Amino acid sequence: MTTAELSQTILGIGEAMVEMSPQTDGSYQRGFAGDVLNALWYARKALDEDWTVSFCSAVGQDPISDDMLAFISGGGIDCSAVRRIAGRSPGLYLITLDGAERSFTYWRSQSAARSLAADGDWLGAQMDAARLIYVSGITLAILPEDDRARLLTGLAARRAAGATVALDPNIRPALWPDKDTARDVLTSAATVSSIVLPSFDDEAACFGDATPEATRARYAGAGAETVIVKNGPGAVLYLQDGQSGEAASPPVAKPVDTTGAGDSFNGACLAALISGEPIGRAIAAGQACAARVIQTRGALI
Ligand code: ADP
Repeated sequence: MTTAELSQTILGIGEAMVEMSPQTDGSYQRGFAGDVLNALWYARKALDEDWTVSFCSAVGQDPISDDMLAFISGGGIDCSAVRRIAGRSPGLYLITLDGAERSFTYWRSQSAARSLAADGDWLGAQMDAARLIYVSGITLAILPEDDRARLLTGLAARRAAGATVALDPNIRPALWPDKDTARDVLTSAATVSSIVLPSFDDEAACFGDATPEATRARYAGAGAETVIVKNGPGAVLYLQDGQSGEAASPPVAKPVDTTGAGDSFNGACLAALISGEPIGRAIAAGQACAARVIQTRGALI
């Protein structure tokens, strides 16, 4: 397949979970979220209708999986690349509030999504024609070692065939057996990626980067053509084809909930990049989207 034959599709590969969010009356509201899904949600909103935004994952055959897919489809996201596995269920997390601080408890170790890369032929077929394939460090962290290697080999092949591969390392220490494994896998993943979108605080904690510039240099050195380093309210640093620069993030007076800030940034920024926008405009689109998301409760608005 040549680059011209790739379809107008963004394929995001990852895990969506059931979210239980506390309400003021002591009850919980059920929702659905996950880092890759969050990014696809905002990419869908940003892209023209001639683009397909597709979620690649695995869920069960149970009613909660049906509800999850109905929710995702309701956001305009194609779910034809979601495997249904008998006897399995989606992962779940519960939010606990301590004042304005949110903490998360997860039940995801047996989730269906951990098997999303178990069938290499199926996975390859899902990735085949997508113009942009998006994965995160969470996607890689939840996979068994062989499946992870299979996914990385598939991504390398798709990139060689002209697709754009985008990675947010999104480092969650609890999902990795140790820092060395996280570092090794994420560095390998960056070598097969065209675009890497790290968040500086995660990278500093895992790789010991002293500055956002160090994060940018490290991922560029691994082989990514484009590196975009997010840093909360700080400036976004970028490097594209050897040209570096930075873009101040517009101030947000009172962030309400920063959950999903980085994901929403990625979705809007990647949608702009894949539509041919220059990097400065794409970063501005990401910042504008994230600014709206952090002024509202919940990752999906
Ligand atoms: P992550 O959610 O991955 O940790 P960041 O916190 O770095 O990502 O934020 C992603 C983007 O969201 C930033 O580049 C910025 O545009 C916006 N953002 C996040 N926090 C703030 C904030 N406090 N004020 C203004 N913008 C913010």
